[in-house]
Amino acid sequence: MIDFKSLNLYPTILNALENKGYKKPTPIQEQCIPHLLKGKDILGIAQTGTGKTAAFSLPIINRIANHKIKIKPARVRVLILTPTRELASQIEDNIKTYSQGLKIFTAVIFGGVGHRQQIVNMGRGVDILIATPGRLLDLMDDGHVLFEQLEVFVLDEADRMLDMGFFHDVNRIIEKLPKMRQTLLFSATMPNDISSLASKLLKDPVRVEVTPESTTVERIEQSLLFVDKTNKPLLLEHIVKTKEVKSALVFTKTKHGANKVVKILEKSGIQCAAIHGNKSQGAREKALADFKSGHIKVLVATDIAARGIDVNDVTHVINYNLPDDPKSYVHRIGRTARAGKNGIALSFCDETERGLLKDIEKQIKTTIPRDNDHPLFGVPARVVPVQANRPGKPMSRRPAPNKSKKKKSFRTNRPAKKS
Ligand code: AMP
Repeated sequence: MIDFKSLNLYPTILNALENKGYKKPTPIQEQCIPHLLKGKDILGIAQTGTGKTAAFSLPIINRIANHKIKIKPARVRVLILTPTRELASQIEDNIKTYSQGLKIFTAVIFGGVGHRQQIVNMGRGVDILIATPGRLLDLMDDGHVLFEQLEVFVLDEADRMLDMGFFHDVNRIIEKLPKMRQTLLFSATMPNDISSLASKLLKDPVRVEVTPESTTVERIEQSLLFVDKTNKPLLLEHIVKTKEVKSALVFTKTKHGANKVVKILEKSGIQCAAIHGNKSQGAREKALADFKSGHIKVLVATDIAARGIDVNDVTHVINYNLPDDPKSYVHRIGRTARAGKNGIALSFCDETERGLLKDIEKQIKTTIPRDNDHPLFGVPARVVPVQANRPGKPMSRRPAPNKSKKKKSFRTNRPAKKS
């Protein structure tokens, strides 16, 4: 196993890595960095969690540190295109950490916030620009971002770009880049569209593939909990309150579902927040910061919003709804057991989700261990409102009073009408 020193990185970068506590390169870093330092193009098949940000950032920082040039207004030397705002912020944070002590100018451009500050930041030109496609195009169209000085282009999470419908925008941006450049393309999966984009974009690339799933998944204690759909809120509440849950990421299928789960948990006094595409940038950043600092215990997210969230201390991933795409199961549970830690992944499965479960188990080639010992196992559809169950009391399996009775007693309480 090689260490960072043998990779020939700039001494200031080595210090920054030491301060950050990185002892040795991860497999993707070991495989990418030597080629990138030589100026080769890379096709990286890897997802978040493998250390791919450092794999592409360190050679970029090294290049800039070794060869300073004067950047003209609105110009960039390196463009990193990434699908989500969270990922863009995280990449910038990482780059700032790795380049501590070096004078490297970075900027981020993403939607959901005002244009003004981003335009100001671009005014003098920057070494590294990290951007999401939509807003970048806006600023390019208005002449605030120009690429004549571009040397390196990184297309990050290309498959997610495709899923999120950014492909047209990405192609429009690529058309504006100079042909002479170094290009890096990273994608967790290689659907046909990405393969053909890669052959169009990359020149004689080195292909690097890392499969973190198996190694990560091995450290995750997975279990499957069959539960009626209507009992999922109670089960979630029970788990979050009674198990050793220090920090849980809960996945729902929809944004609306995420909001609903937050309401349910808040009612029972659990501090939580939702993160999804309908939330403002400020709300998303606050939720993520509160979650990272431990201020809130539960973060409820949809797949897209959660992709790329880099929180090292998630003790539990809870699939409130199983994902439609079986590959997302691995991505979701990989949010726990980060940075060498162990983690727990619990998946709720109702009657309508049995087909999804079958697809997931086919994908991961194992049967997820069943936990049939939970208090809601085999409990029929619930008709009692959540508030009826006070914390600490056994959960009620009593059906709700039927409506006609309720109406009757309501009527009897009314003063009799005078005829
Ligand atoms: P990434 O795949 O870039 O999102 O990185 C996942 C996590 O691994 C982040 O928390 C990084 O700080 C961490 N990381 C990256 N490279 C290393 C390394 N060589 N040693 C230890 N942790 C690392």
